[in-house]
Amino acid sequence: MLILGTHMSIAEGIAKTAENVVKMNANTMQIFSRNPRGSSYKNYSKEEVECFQKIRRENQFGPLLAHAPYTMNLASADERVYEFACMVIREDIARMDALQIENIVFHPGSHTGIGTEAGIRNIVAGLDQAITGEESIMILLETMSGKGTEIGVSFEELKEIRDGVKHPERIGVCLDTCHVFAAGYDIVNDLDKVLEEFDRVLGLDLLRAIHLNDSMMPFGSHKDRHAAIGEGEIGLEALLRVLEHPLLRKLPFYLETPFDDVGHKKEMEMIKRKLEER
Ligand code: FE
Ligand code: FE
Ligand code: ZN
Repeated sequence: MLILGTHMSIAEGIAKTAENVVKMNANTMQIFSRNPRGSSYKNYSKEEVECFQKIRRENQFGPLLAHAPYTMNLASADERVYEFACMVIREDIARMDALQIENIVFHPGSHTGIGTEAGIRNIVAGLDQAITGEESIMILLETMSGKGTEIGVSFEELKEIRDGVKHPERIGVCLDTCHVFAAGYDIVNDLDKVLEEFDRVLGLDLLRAIHLNDSMMPFGSHKDRHAAIGEGEIGLEALLRVLEHPLLRKLPFYLETPFDDVGHKKEMEMIKRKLEER
C-alpha cells in the first residue's frame, strides 16, 4: 500500500493536524518538531496526545516524520549557534520519541568555512550528546542539494557522519528527490544506478523516507528550490518511477511542494490517479 502524505503545519495542534491528514486522504505526515524559524514549541496535553494516537492508529497511518528546524546548524563553528543546535536536536529527539513518532529528519548542516571534515566532526559530536541509544525513534540525515557550504551533498558524507557516531544503529537517511537531483544524482535518466550507488555506499536498508519534490532548478545546479510534482526539471514521469520502484515502494513519501492543504490534497489525488493509469 502506498504511504503518502505531505508536510503539515501543526499550528492547530497535533490531534487536529492528524484529523486534517485523514480529510486529505493521506496516511502519513511530516511535521516540524518545533517552530522552524524560531525555537519555541508547544507542550501537548495528555488528552490531545491520546487523541492524536487514536487517530493515527484507527486510520492505519504509516511511519510519521518530524523535521528539525532549519535554524539548527550542527556543523557550525560558532559556539552559540552550535550550542543551540545541540540543545534542539537533543530535546527534539526525546520529545518526538515520546510522541512515538518513528523518524526525525534534519539537515546535517553547513560548515560555513571550516571545511567538510571539521563540520562532520561537529555533527558527530552533536549527535553523540543527543542520542542515548535507548530511543525507538530513528534519526534521519537528509540528502542535501549542496548549496553554499552544505554537508550531505553526497552519500559518502552521510556515511561518514553515521560511521562516526556512537549509536549508528539509530541513524538512517531521508532522500529528497529535489535535493539529490540538484546535487547531481541522475534520478531522471538512471534511477537504478543512483539506488545502486546508495546501496553500495550506505546500504538501502538505511533509507527510511522519501521527500517527494520536483525541482525548479536544473540537474546538478546545487540549488534548492522545490517545484510542484510534474512542474519542475525532474518531471512527473521520473517521480512516478520513484514512487513505484520495487526497492522504494514500501517507503513513506512526503510532499514538500509549494501548496496549502487544499492544493496538496489535489496533488496527491493526481499522483494516485497517474499511478493507477500506468
Ligand atoms: Fe528538509
Ligand atoms: Fe526535504
Ligand atoms: Zn529542500
